[in-house]
Amino acid sequence: MKTNRNGQGSSLFSFCFFRLVCGSTRPFFAALVVAVVLASGCRTVPERPDDFVELTTVIPGLVLDIRYATTNNFTGQKVYPDARCFLRRATAEKLKRVQADLAKQGLALKIFDGFRPLAVQRKFWEIMPDDRYVANPAKGSRHNRGAAVDLTLIRLSSGQELPMPTPFDDFSERAGRDYANLPGELIRNRTLLREVMEKHGFVGLTTEWWHFDDADWKNYPIADMPK
Ligand SMILES: [Zn+2]
Repeated sequence: MKTNRNGQGSSLFSFCFFRLVCGSTRPFFAALVVAVVLASGCRTVPERPDDFVELTTVIPGLVLDIRYATTNNFTGQKVYPDARCFLRRATAEKLKRVQADLAKQGLALKIFDGFRPLAVQRKFWEIMPDDRYVANPAKGSRHNRGAAVDLTLIRLSSGQELPMPTPFDDFSERAGRDYANLPGELIRNRTLLREVMEKHGFVGLTTEWWHFDDADWKNYPIADMPK
């Protein structure tokens, strides 16, 4: 958020921070949308790599399946108010290049998660305090920096997911990036995803085939709010 550009940023921040502390993530997303609209509508402020952007504005037509906005996730609860995805601008631009590369092969991305408010990270940790699968909120996740994304591959023609070793958020050994006791097709699909992501500046995680960090994640601080 470009705070104090017009005097509204800091009050908005205070209000939403208060609401976040009180346990609601809805004001956060509302504030994020306001921030993105303000940033996009103000031509005098140059775009910065650490701006938060809504991913579908950078990659039109991108398929989202934001599981934490549904009950179809490991918590069994709807923890996001809206099925929207935000990332740092530079991370989103990298993902745009991934998408363009995949299109040449008749494939595309499907996004499960991107930026995650720290308040949600705390909730995840209460449910699953295992740092192989959920980052300890004391350290923060790269999702909390807006510099990590959970995704899979789909066919452009049908939208159908390519078969992968496990579903998203399957906290088992089989979800490991290097787990080998699998049919060849699943290993090929997993490898294809990893290679195209690495080619465009992402780094995978050993325990989750679907998770990728922007290799430049250290450039972006943990955020409960966009700054
Ligand atoms: Zn992840």
